Amino acid sequence: MHVTNKDVVLSKLVSIVGPKNATAAKHIRYAYSYDMSFVQPKLPDYVVLVSTVEEVQGVLRYANQEKIPVVPYTAGTNIGGLTIPERGGILMDLKRMNRIITIDTESHYAVIEPGVSHAQLATALYPHQLRFGWPVGPPSASVSSCAISHGIGGLNARYGLNSQEITSMEVVLPTGELVRVGSCAINPDAWHSLLPFPQMDGLFKGWLGSTGVVTKLGITVHPIPPVLKVFTVSCRNVEDMVSYMMNLATYEICDDLTAVSWWLAQVPIPYPYKPKPEDPPEWFSFANTNSFTEKEKEAREEIWETVVAEEKKKGTSIEVTQYPEEALRARTQLPSQIVGSTKNYCKMGGAGISWPGTFTPANKWAPVYNDWKKILIEHNLSPSIRMSMYRGVHYGMLRAMIPFNKKSPQETENARHAIVECLKVDLEHGGMPYKPPVDFAMEINQRAHPGYLELLKRIKRMLDPNDIMNPGKLGI
Ligand SMILES: Cc1cc2nc3c(=O)[nH]c(=O)nc-3n(C[C@H](O)[C@H](O)[C@H](O)COP(=O)(O)OP(=O)(O)OC[C@H]3O[C@@H](n4cnc5c(N)ncnc54)[C@H](O)[C@@H]3O)c2cc1C
Repeated sequence: MHVTNKDVVLSKLVSIVGPKNATAAKHIRYAYSYDMSFVQPKLPDYVVLVSTVEEVQGVLRYANQEKIPVVPYTAGTNIGGLTIPERGGILMDLKRMNRIITIDTESHYAVIEPGVSHAQLATALYPHQLRFGWPVGPPSASVSSCAISHGIGGLNARYGLNSQEITSMEVVLPTGELVRVGSCAINPDAWHSLLPFPQMDGLFKGWLGSTGVVTKLGITVHPIPPVLKVFTVSCRNVEDMVSYMMNLATYEICDDLTAVSWWLAQVPIPYPYKPKPEDPPEWFSFANTNSFTEKEKEAREEIWETVVAEEKKKGTSIEVTQYPEEALRARTQLPSQIVGSTKNYCKMGGAGISWPGTFTPANKWAPVYNDWKKILIEHNLSPSIRMSMYRGVHYGMLRAMIPFNKKSPQETENARHAIVECLKVDLEHGGMPYKPPVDFAMEINQRAHPGYLELLKRIKRMLDPNDIMNPGKLGI
């Protein structure tokens, strides 16, 4: 950072956002220095709370001129250290920019600011019988941060990733310039579509806040078909569960097709590792379907019954099971305090939680899980794993949720080591980590085609010539 006088920087920030919204107070900076993950805490030098696009522009223009790092932040729940400032600088908290600008109930899209939370948007959409792909994360987290980070929601089997639901974007570049991509770039009131233009939204999705600050986001919203039916099965091993999921996914009848290991089904996840008792199966799956009519539901039911019969004929361990009511509600009434509550994951674990979250071909889920299980148990950690299918393809999320005792540096390092080892196994099988902490980014880059890395660097330099936006996160 080339300005050394902290008072000068602070007074400039105060002049942009007002005295109550900029600070260098250590106790406030401390609150933004860590998250739940194994990533080591680092303090920002300043925290600013922005409320308008003009304030975002003002802060970025100044930061760019003075080469001060800026980290965009909404709720900090990403569990990958993605908002922990690698190089200090300004932590830009966007949660006050929380207006729902439009809900277009006819064309089925909404326009939101970055601070709009899942809970807030759900509350606004439900009266119109509309929905979005709510994640099983904290309801207070930001809809747009999840979407631009290729987040996973409860409609992924039907519509794809939350990033595939983006229809238009407004972004402030690191230089402070305002840009738009998608239909809103051509007509300021048209937020319905990214196509048919060059998909420049890609410059701001999956970049971990390192190419600009999204200030408005258009997203698709969907009608809620009123007839809900959840199909639940269990299997004694991962191979049988994957066989069922690949078979069922072929028919594209589910909104969400997910399976969880016994350890992830426990509340809280056992920490340290606890062996599964002999009796219960190792895998449980729920397949959420929503239909507009009873007849449509019956058609889905018929397909599901055929799939189960086929799996039984193969001689797999599949059993049709009943989920407890509360567990079903947690999976269908999202956003949910039940599964989104971090205490479920952390209270026995000393508040730490990290993951290897990956997009992995479904035919690789079983070998990767079996290796992950060995690695995690060797590290005295539970193999609490989730597998979720994406729309129309046989790949999807393979993810562990690993609680650990963050108060102990040794236990934190143990979790980090296990998770990075798991990640390497997944990369070898063609899996791709999402929302990657820097440790993961390094592993990805080591394996990347040189042309990919060069392009990445060139785009980053073009958009952010002074490398001020969330610097260091891409591991380049
Ligand atoms: C228990 C638990 C379960 C979870 N389950 C899920 C799940 O099912 N699916 C899922 O997707 N996630 C899940 N998450 C992760 C997380 O909750 C979501 O991804 C969440 O939506 C992130 O929002 P946030 O406001 O916390 O973002 P933050 O952590 O504040 O930011 C995330 C990233 O976006 C960048 N960023 C933030 N705002 C902007 C902006 N306006 N412009 C540019 N960059 C920006 C940040 O710099 C950072 O890199 C889970 C988390 C927990 C703790």
